[in-house]
Amino acid sequence: ATPTALMVGTGRAAKMGILIKDGEALEVIDDLKAVIFDKTGTITVGKPVVTDVVGDRKKVLSIAAGLEDQSEHPLASAVVQQANEDQIEVQPVTEFEAVRGQGVRGKINGHQAFVGSERLAKEEIDSELAKQREQLQSEAKTVVLVGVDDKVIGLIAIQDSPKPTSAEAIQQLNNLGLETIMLTGDNQTVAEAIGKQVGIQKVIAGVLPNEKATYVKQAQEKGRVAFVGDGINDAPALTTADVGIAMGSGTDIAIESGEIVLVQNDLRGVVKALAMSRKTFQRIK
Ligand code: ADP
Ligand code: MG
Repeated sequence: ATPTALMVGTGRAAKMGILIKDGEALEVIDDLKAVIFDKTGTITVGKPVVTDVVGDRKKVLSIAAGLEDQSEHPLASAVVQQANEDQIEVQPVTEFEAVRGQGVRGKINGHQAFVGSERLAKEEIDSELAKQREQLQSEAKTVVLVGVDDKVIGLIAIQDSPKPTSAEAIQQLNNLGLETIMLTGDNQTVAEAIGKQVGIQKVIAGVLPNEKATYVKQAQEKGRVAFVGDGINDAPALTTADVGIAMGSGTDIAIESGEIVLVQNDLRGVVKALAMSRKTFQRIK
């Protein structure tokens, strides 16, 4: 495309809320094999709410909220908000530590406490709790464990629904013959339940933050890949992908790492960018 055509293309895209920082991204996006999505805040709204508490509700929430009060994870605000709603006093925490992609821990009343995924728990949970966890996960709820002194004392189920436009966007990409993949640190059962709701072709769950870029590289063996994400932990995957697409609502580092920014946080922007690419470069397909 001529420089003028490129300017017109990026200008038109900007009017639709699609910021294209790099003209090359606009060219490459029409030649993709796969689009890989982060789950939380990208496919889903990213405003999770607590739906269930298993165990002594007051105790579980006061410990979890004490820890989550110091975390910036989207799941954390859901827990703190629920404790506030229940008017539960949160426990003061010392020696706070955030374990990326796993959860948070710290000392409460001299006891070591944690909230997060099973990776963070030292011991297996008992079969009764495991059963309840499985049930909640099959309802597409993310379940975090709350523990004191290595013993799990309860579960908190948190729901984060897909954005209303995610299914349509993914369907359109599927129809264009692209492979659609979800990459998430969340549990397999939850990820699959969400994946089904939006019609994604492949789900890769339990991925640690530093592993996301590795999966992008793997997918690149088959062709060009776009990665769509919003989090701090998505930054390496956004830069590794042939086209990095960040949510406008994302963290600063994600927005800086992406070549395209979807200001309206609507995944249909990916399809629109593809169409804009085709128009700008006058490709007939
Ligand atoms: P995603 O890839 O979906 O954005 P993350 O990698 O941020 O997810 O987190 C993966 C998992 O780690 C979560 O599903 C949760 O089980 C656990 N986790 C991470 N941070 C926290 C936290 N602050 N509180 C509770 N659980 C957490
Ligand atoms: Mg995210």
